[in-house]
Amino acid sequence: MPGFPKLREDGYDLVVLGGGHAGLQAGLKTALLHHTAAILDRGPKYSRSYYAPRMANIPGWPTGISGHKLLDLQIAALGPWADRVGYFTPARASAVRATDDGFSVEFEWLKQPRVARGRALVLALGVVDRIPVVGGRIDPIFPWANAALVDFCVFCDGHELTGKSVGVIGADPFAVRTALDLVEFEPKSVELLTHGAPFLAGVPGPEREQLLAEMERAGIARHDPEMVGFDGIREKRWIVRFQDGSVREYDRGFSALGWYDLHGEIPRSLGARFDPDGYVVTDEDCRVLSDRTGEPIPGLYCVGDLRNGWNQIPEAWATAERAVIHACNFYL
Ligand SMILES: Cc1cc2nc3c(=O)[nH]c(=O)nc-3n(C[C@H](O)[C@H](O)[C@H](O)COP(=O)(O)OP(=O)(O)OC[C@H]3O[C@@H](n4cnc5c(N)ncnc54)[C@H](O)[C@@H]3O)c2cc1C
Repeated sequence: MPGFPKLREDGYDLVVLGGGHAGLQAGLKTALLHHTAAILDRGPKYSRSYYAPRMANIPGWPTGISGHKLLDLQIAALGPWADRVGYFTPARASAVRATDDGFSVEFEWLKQPRVARGRALVLALGVVDRIPVVGGRIDPIFPWANAALVDFCVFCDGHELTGKSVGVIGADPFAVRTALDLVEFEPKSVELLTHGAPFLAGVPGPEREQLLAEMERAGIARHDPEMVGFDGIREKRWIVRFQDGSVREYDRGFSALGWYDLHGEIPRSLGARFDPDGYVVTDEDCRVLSDRTGEPIPGLYCVGDLRNGWNQIPEAWATAERAVIHACNFYL
């Protein structure tokens, strides 16, 4: 698709930061509404869904579709609109400035520093999962994650765990709550793997007691030693070797380590408000709210996972549609 687009020196109606599911949809919708957009994206392999082998909640794909293929299809959908939408990749946005007539975005494209100007700006940078570190590296888990034997998202994959034994990685309240949520899907068993990290460190007494009681009620066991390696990929199992020599075998693994990067830097530089979990706060039209006044920041939108809401692709699409329709009606 779009080969090497030409950067319009006179600027765009919209500049979209991030070309995952939300950013690509924002670009497409802009073209359909007869406006122009530049999508600046680091590349599909930085999208959260790039490593999702089979997504079951995408309408039109009754047997599921991979995140990789869905991104390719969304990129291809921009093809007919190349005169209105420039898809710049690999392009990394580094800074944004509000100007008198919109926004000015500094980015690097083809190793050259560039600037894109837009009358409105859509932040669609997504978020990045924290990956378990084993032996100082993050790649040991990749074959199991790519084979959908280790999952990351309760909403996306919880339904796959019914009747299965599950090892959940994590040691904090988020991990415990994730393990409790997974029990709702009626797995055969759930065991929390704290991977050598102090369990519920720093959690106040009453909350700790409550989490421990809920774990016990739900029958969630715990195994504390550090993980040192994995086996079982051929057998489609997740077999975990631990530092103390023990070995545990599960039908599925689940990483509950939270986020590595919530991409807060650019929205913070523009005065955005964040919720307690670190997501950008918007109104219903996905306008970013000012931290100072609580009012929408003119021309600034946030869509997809980065925005407070549910981290799902249909939501990424819906928020992109809302933002672009609003921007075209009000600012462009
Ligand atoms: C393992 C897994 C399985 C999943 N399964 C499902 C599922 O079955 N169903 C479902 O609905 N959802 C699923 N999800 C969630 C889904 O992937 C996300 O909700 C979706 O990707 C969010 O879209 P987004 O556009 O907000 O972010 P992303 O798709 O993550 O895209 C963000 C984009 O921003 C770009 N970017 C980041 N920083 C910069 C920068 N500085 N400059 C330029 N570009 C930048 C990246 O290159 C990336 O392309 C799954 C997620 C994971 C991790």
